[in-house]
This record gives sequence, structure tokens and C-alpha cells, in this order.
Amino acid sequence: MANYIPSVGMEVHAELATRTKMFCRCPVSFGGEANTRVCPVCLGLPGTLPVPNRAAVEMVLRTALALNCKIAMESVFHRKNYFYPDLPKGYQVSQYGETNPLGYHGFLEIPTAEGGLKRITIRRVHLEEDTGKLMHLPNGGSGVDYNRAGTPLMEIVTGFNPETGVPDISTPDEAKEYLTQLRLILLYLGVCDGKMEEGSLRCEPNISIRPFGVDKLGTKSELKNLNSFRSVQLGVAFEVRRQTAVLDEGGIVLQETRGWNEQREASFAMRLKESENDYRYFPDPDLIPMQFDEATIADLRASLPELPLAKLRRYQDSLGLSTYDASVLVADRDWATYFEACVQLGGDPKGVCNWMNSEFARLLNESGQAAAESNVTPAHIVDLLRILAEGQINGKMAKTIFADSFESGKLPSELAAGGGQITDEDAVREIVRGVLAANPAIVEKFRSGNEGVKGFLVGQVMKQSEGRANPQLAQKLVLEELAV
Ligand SMILES: [Zn+2]
Repeated sequence: MANYIPSVGMEVHAELATRTKMFCRCPVSFGGEANTRVCPVCLGLPGTLPVPNRAAVEMVLRTALALNCKIAMESVFHRKNYFYPDLPKGYQVSQYGETNPLGYHGFLEIPTAEGGLKRITIRRVHLEEDTGKLMHLPNGGSGVDYNRAGTPLMEIVTGFNPETGVPDISTPDEAKEYLTQLRLILLYLGVCDGKMEEGSLRCEPNISIRPFGVDKLGTKSELKNLNSFRSVQLGVAFEVRRQTAVLDEGGIVLQETRGWNEQREASFAMRLKESENDYRYFPDPDLIPMQFDEATIADLRASLPELPLAKLRRYQDSLGLSTYDASVLVADRDWATYFEACVQLGGDPKGVCNWMNSEFARLLNESGQAAAESNVTPAHIVDLLRILAEGQINGKMAKTIFADSFESGKLPSELAAGGGQITDEDAVREIVRGVLAANPAIVEKFRSGNEGVKGFLVGQVMKQSEGRANPQLAQKLVLEELAV
């Protein structure tokens, strides 16, 4: 592998999270009985006229802006003509051309292993419609389900780096990282639910290798049926190995589309691509050209949320979180929002983060709830951390009280009142004396040099106090009383 440089291009399709389809009012949702969400428009019946979905156009424009693209202030839809049964009209409405897609010539940044950033060139972000689904019927033969036909689909394609003239992505890890960042941006924008397993986010990487010192890219193969991040990473790695073996044996890499076998973790040839298909693109005469003004684009730009990478940097630089802690929070937009609400209420960022990612995450996992559905609000977390910091309760009690709070919705300070931590020296000393008196044999062991038994005695003090004794105080007093 060391003799070749891999190049990876990424083509990602994202089903847009609109309520209705691209050119009709049929609802968009996953699954359901076949052909129940269809109408004359999305079935392509003669005499129907499409009406573009404004929400879908705005979603693509916002994505293009988030990906630092130029915006096509005038943009048209094209017909991409080909015959396949999943396409009821005989053509797919799409967008053709270098500067006609709603967004073009942008970039996305991915974090590198060295802690820096790498810029991945985006060639275009365009809007099209999804196809139906072919399915094998239980009694033999095949059927088509058009429920998905006409769902707004956004295509995001990487390009060649303007300086090097080749794709920016050159390793399986970078391919995975690109997809991770892109998915997160789409989730933050609320334009796609990002479910690779349901096919609402689909990734088709193309891979080629070329010998070191050679500028011209090698012949590429394109991978399909990758339905997880892991399979994208494995698939790219597999293709690099496979093509290396082909070239090392003096063979030639064929330009082909290859499928991915999840079980065998291997790709297989699906079809040869001897030449580019001629789709005979032409502007769709049923759809008028789209035009945007600067004010609309400025409004959309202003509506963009803080994006994941910017958030990550802010958590590290301004809130002092580690890269790991910050990335756990940023990986889920709702989780990050919850965290920020706690910090807003005066919670210490590091303390809040630790509590959320340990105890809170554990209880949510066990109950199958999302943070916002639970009884615990940001005020509960901040309240708990405050009484913990003030020494009213100890760490062990905090867990018990928090679990109670999670069940009942009561504030931790309320629950702690009356059953708080015992920090009174005399009260703890009394318990310590009682424990020593009840364990003369253990005390004897300590006095004859076995200092390890001290832990047992402290443990007994904690048990006697039902976990409420201040642990440091208990430790100190056990030693004091043993020395008497
Ligand atoms: Zn329809």
C-alpha cells in the first residue's frame, strides 16, 4: 500500500426533513404500507404539474451556506432522463451544471488526528427528488413502492482541491470523519434526520489509487450499499487494498460500480461503467427558474445555528473542556443545548459536563428517555452540584439523591434537607468510637502493624452513618481514635 496514494471522492444523498414531497403535497415518512403516500404528481401521470416545495429549497440553501458554498442566485431544475422502474416519470428532476446547483465551490473542515483542521473541497450541493424502491415479493417477482418517490433529496459532492488538483480525502479515516462532520452539520441545521440504517442519509464513495510521483488520478471504482459509518471506513480501506493488489499483479483497475457485503466485509463487482451515461439533461419546462435576492440569502445566513466545529472550539477555548468532553457534548445537539442551559444557570462547565456524561447519561440510558423528557431539568443539575460543592452532601450521597430526583422530579437540595452530610466532628467521632468498640480484634490487628484494616473501619463508619458521614472526616477521626 505504501507505493500508492489513494484518492476518495464522496457523494452523499440526504433526504430532506420536510413534511411533504418535493413537487406535491404527499406526506414524507419512513416505512408504512407500499404505495399509500402517492398522488398523480409523484406517480408521474400525464397532465399533472409539479409545484416546488419552498421549505426544501431553503434547506438546501442553508446547507450550502453552512458548507461555505457560493449560491446560485439563478438556478434551474433539469430533467435527468433514464429508464428504470423506480422512476415513474422516466426522468428524475435534478440540477445539472457546474454553477447551476443551489450551492457550489465550498468546503467543509474536518478535525485531524494532530489536532488541526483539514479543508475538504465541496464541488456542489444540489436539490433533486428521490426515486421509489424496488422490492422482491414473498411469492416471487418484484414490485415497486412509490412512497419514497418524489421525496426531496439533497446531493452533496466533494471536489478537487483547487491547488493540488486532486481530491482532499486520501485515507479511510478521513472519509469517515468527513461523513461524521457532514451528518452532524445536517442534524444541527435540522434538514435531515441522518439515519443511515433507514437510508435517509446515503454515502457513495469513489476510490482510486495512483503511484507516488504520478499526478494523474487512477481509474476509480464507486461503492454502494454502505449503511453505516463503519462500513464506509471499511469499504474505502478494502478498495484501497483490492486496487493495490490488482496493480501489484500487473493488472488494471476497472471503472465499475461495486456493492458492499456487510457480512464478508468485502466489495463485489455490480456493473462496469465503460462510459458516462448520457442522461440528456435539459431544463424542466414545467418548472420556472428559481431566483433569489441578496436579502433572502442574508436572512438564511443569519438563521444558521452555531455549527458543531465552532461549538467544539468554544467549549475548549472558553469553557476549558477537554477535546474528549467537548466532542461528547457536541455530538448531540440536544445534549449540547442542555449543557449550555446548565452553564447559563451558573453551573461549572467541567462539573456539569462530568455529571451529565456519567450519572445523568446512565439513568437516561436505563430509562430510555431523552434529557428533555426526564424529570431532571438543568436547574436540578446545577442545584445538585451546588450542594455538593458546599459540602452539604458527599459524592456518594449525590448519586443517591440524584437518582431520587430523577424519579420524583424533586430538587436535590429539598431531598438533602434533613438528611444532609454529617460534617459535625463530635457526631462523627461518636460513631467512630462505637465502631472501634464493636471491633476489638480489628483494632488489635491495626495496633500490631496491619494498617490495611483502617479501610474496613472507615467503611463501617460510613455504613453506620448510612453514607452521610463526610468521608475525609471519618478517615481522619478513625486514625485519631486508633492512635489513642
Ligand atoms: Zn404525491
